[in-house]
Amino acid sequence: MFNEWVEVRRIYLIRIRNETTDLHKWAMSPSLRQIILTIGQDVRDCHACYDCDILDTIEQDISLGSLVQMVLLNDEDVLSSHTLWSDAVLKSAQHMCKRGLNLEEIILALRQEAERRGLTVGK
Ligand code: SF4
Repeated sequence: MFNEWVEVRRIYLIRIRNETTDLHKWAMSPSLRQIILTIGQDVRDCHACYDCDILDTIEQDISLGSLVQMVLLNDEDVLSSHTLWSDAVLKSAQHMCKRGLNLEEIILALRQEAERRGLTVGK
């Protein structure tokens, strides 16, 4: 009984330590929106109109509008999406946003961040 209690306590302490480390890492890394801001693009300008979603390629798993919205939500899954790594999407992205966001530059900056974080699954 005592050994079980010690084991439970040990697992609990490991979990607390790992969660604290994850929280610390999360708090220390800049958000995806902040990373995009460094290239002069502010994804808060996205009105979620989805006018950019006229592309229809099988390489896309999320729409361009959703990609921008995921950046706003700091959703790291965007970094491993197939859309991010599609060359067809990249080629057409530059003039897609009717609100002036340069989606091509945003994609390139996100690719760079994905490589930095080792998240290139969608590549
Ligand atoms: S067209 Fe521009 S503003 Fe509209 S959803 Fe796409 S990225 Fe956002």
